Amino acid sequence: MRKQIAAANWKMNCTFQEGEKLMDGILKAEIKLADHQLAIFAVPYPYLLMTRSEVEEEKNYYAAAQNCHHKKSGAYTGEVSAQMLHSLNISYCLVGHSERREYNAETNEMLAEKIDLCLENFITPIFCCGEPLNIREAGTQNEYVAKQLEESLFHLPADKIKSIIIAYEPIWAIGTGKTASTEQAQEIHHYLRSVIAGKYGNDIANEIPILYGGSVKANNAKEIFGCADVDGGLVGGASLVANDFIEIIKALK
Ligand code: PEP
Repeated sequence: MRKQIAAANWKMNCTFQEGEKLMDGILKAEIKLADHQLAIFAVPYPYLLMTRSEVEEEKNYYAAAQNCHHKKSGAYTGEVSAQMLHSLNISYCLVGHSERREYNAETNEMLAEKIDLCLENFITPIFCCGEPLNIREAGTQNEYVAKQLEESLFHLPADKIKSIIIAYEPIWAIGTGKTASTEQAQEIHHYLRSVIAGKYGNDIANEIPILYGGSVKANNAKEIFGCADVDGGLVGGASLVANDFIEIIKALK
């Protein structure tokens, strides 16, 4: 079975102490994950080691970074490289979250560089894509997200694309309380898989987890994750409440 993943994105929330308490609260539930299930916590950089050590003994629980820089190393004050993350034993990293695309002017080309650096450093990128509201209203979301994949991922050879995780996050659903309907989610996830199949073939397309993100909550996760081409979720707001994220992990197929 394809990997099924509950990924938390804390964004710029929680003090260190609140973060520790949140992790403790989630782990207290002692949810045992099956071989094909993962729980990933994308936390602020200063909390990576704490999170990594909290999940060390837990099967299939991982700490992730929310970003890395698109250059290898050098005079980029305040930035964090993929190599630095690897040196901390961090094995997952969000790449191209829509907030970074918007506020940090990240382009598809820069994201392709980040993807390469993650892979060179044995880090699995969770590549975020998704359209803004005006694109959805114009009905051109398929072309929009296909271009994001093509420009940031499709330079990869088949053996490398296999290790990517994709998160489809319609921007109009992030933090707004509006979710895509299950029909909308299934339709575009299926489309994304077909775009990958067109380039790399069905076997590879069927292996790549595609997460849904955008106002996933404890009370809608099961329904969304139930879609055939949805392999779990990338979760912002609801990942900050232990009991909510516990229910979201439990909703994985
Ligand atoms: C996100 O930040 O990736 C996200 C999906 O946020 P929320 O769950 O709050 O919509």
